[in-house]
Amino acid sequence: MMALTAQDTLPPTRGAYAEHAPLKDVLWFRAGGAADILFRPADLDDLKSFMASRPKDVPLTVLGVGSNILVRDGGIEGITIRLPSAFGQIESLGPTRLRAGAAALDSAVARAAQMAGIGGLEFLRGIPGTIGGALKMNAGCYGREMKDILVEARAIDGNGKLVTLTAADMGFTYRHSAVPEGLIFVDAVVEGAPDDPAAIKARMEKLVAEREAAQPIRAKTGGSTFTNPPGHKAWQLIDQAGCRGLTRGEAQVSEKHCNFLINLGNASAADIEALGEDVRARVKAHSGIQLEWEIKRVGREA
Ligand SMILES: Cc1cc2nc3c(=O)[nH]c(=O)nc-3n(C[C@H](O)[C@H](O)[C@H](O)COP(=O)(O)OP(=O)(O)OC[C@H]3O[C@@H](n4cnc5c(N)ncnc54)[C@H](O)[C@@H]3O)c2cc1C
Repeated sequence: MMALTAQDTLPPTRGAYAEHAPLKDVLWFRAGGAADILFRPADLDDLKSFMASRPKDVPLTVLGVGSNILVRDGGIEGITIRLPSAFGQIESLGPTRLRAGAAALDSAVARAAQMAGIGGLEFLRGIPGTIGGALKMNAGCYGREMKDILVEARAIDGNGKLVTLTAADMGFTYRHSAVPEGLIFVDAVVEGAPDDPAAIKARMEKLVAEREAAQPIRAKTGGSTFTNPPGHKAWQLIDQAGCRGLTRGEAQVSEKHCNFLINLGNASAADIEALGEDVRARVKAHSGIQLEWEIKRVGREA
């Protein structure tokens, strides 16, 4: 494919295009290549008109805050979209519901719910992504996940049309949604139950302390690398296969929680991915179980 330039290929926009845009600094792994073109729409109407008039043969990738994604070292082909803060609003919709923009951080939604006295959303405090990423991944922890709180999500489809999906339409399963590729989530209505703000706050603080103790949440990481196979814990299988602390270049299986891969400094995305494949091979040889990647891997090899 010929190199794209934003000016000659893409529709006019009120947002911003950037060519060869480095992504390292916005991804949790702090590794990987650049976006051929990074598009940041100004607002919902801008995103709609871009999607309606963009060249349909150019690949499209959406990024949240990159807490569950590995971008390969050769970067992302085509157009990468990141929603700016205009998509991060959180508003109250009565005593038990909030509408949150897809760029809102899950932790901000948890805090807004706590202040509004809406209980049951505090698990979001432990997930370092956005609502868009949480919808895509059916993110969850401590026994709750998006499936349990979603009333409806809105998305822009490949032709620029605003579509509404109920929780049933999302096809949620464990850390997975089954919506058609190419939908860009723009917001979600989530629901909890009336509760005492002080009690919610106490539960959130407990959850944060537990995560701090159990996970390398300050490391350059992509969160849980593999989904838990039915009836098993991925971290246990990895530990039993002798992979705790295993390294490849500057990538390491976390000593603290061995379903996390971490970048010790300047690991390449190739090191991180190859380390993940080493782990899969060792677990398969040790237990016969094939681990499946939870982390999304996108882009070209260098
Ligand atoms: C320290 C740490 C702890 C974590 N703990 C948990 C945990 O307890 N539970 C859990 O579930 N996850 C956990 N994660 C993983 C991660 O935070 C979640 O998967 C999160 O939902 C990803 O959101 P994101 O905005 O970072 O998405 P990204 O990582 O940027 O993208 C993930 C996927 O979502 C898609 N996506 C993002 N935004 C949109 C959008 N607007 N429209 C359509 N698709 C979109 C991307 O295309 C990609 O396929 C953890 C990660 C880290 C680093």
